[in-house]
Amino acid sequence: MKGIGLFGGTFNPLHNGHLKVAQDVKAGFNLESIYFIPSSVPPHKGTEGLADVKDRFQIIQTAMGKGFTASDVEIDRQGPSYSIDTVRYFKDKLPASTLCYLIVGMDAFLEIDTWRSFKTLFDLIPMIVMTRPVKGTQITTRFIEELEKYIHAHVDSAYDFVEHKSCFIHPAKQSVYLCYVTPVDISSTQIRNYVRQGVSIKHMVPDAVEKYIHKKGLYL
Ligand code: ATP
Repeated sequence: MKGIGLFGGTFNPLHNGHLKVAQDVKAGFNLESIYFIPSSVPPHKGTEGLADVKDRFQIIQTAMGKGFTASDVEIDRQGPSYSIDTVRYFKDKLPASTLCYLIVGMDAFLEIDTWRSFKTLFDLIPMIVMTRPVKGTQITTRFIEELEKYIHAHVDSAYDFVEHKSCFIHPAKQSVYLCYVTPVDISSTQIRNYVRQGVSIKHMVPDAVEKYIHKKGLYL
């Protein structure tokens, strides 16, 4: 059975790293589609340098290929954009038989204990944690060790790593899958800096995204 992925983020702006890792997850987990969900008011990032969510959403839309969809679900919601609300929204909307995963980068996952109702997330939805190159964590075993240490300390000590599935399982809670994605050393921060400095971002974002950013004068 094919599933769907929920990929939330600030996407300020969307870049080739986001697209590449999403393709890897889609292929690796045989997903039918992935929803890219820009947060309107990111609870964990300041609003300085944050482009209007409508622009961030438009940017995502210009870059969507087959099986990728831009979701505006967090745009009109009042207050901070909490993942728990988004997960509940999709769970209500989709048929109960739909396999639904929450897709999170390793850096974001390692702060999940700061998310609203984070423990409930582990009851509601399986997660796919994408590796992201961080100095000192490139080695496979380090990713597993770091995740295990974090999950045991902050989520639940009954999670066990199952090597052949590359997955943490729990007797009552949802699984947490580790997905090794192609390392792409691009961040939105780097893109915003480059635009401000007048440096080309050509190979970091799709052409249409670059055009949109320049046309609207974003990140200057
Ligand atoms: P910023 O530089 O502004 O902090 P970002 O590039 O990390 O932004 P986000 O919008 O915060 O982008 O990312 C959304 C999600 O995508 C997060 O879970 C993040 O870990 C993941 N992600 C972003 N870029 C990459 C990348 N190059 N490789 C793997 N995961 C990534």
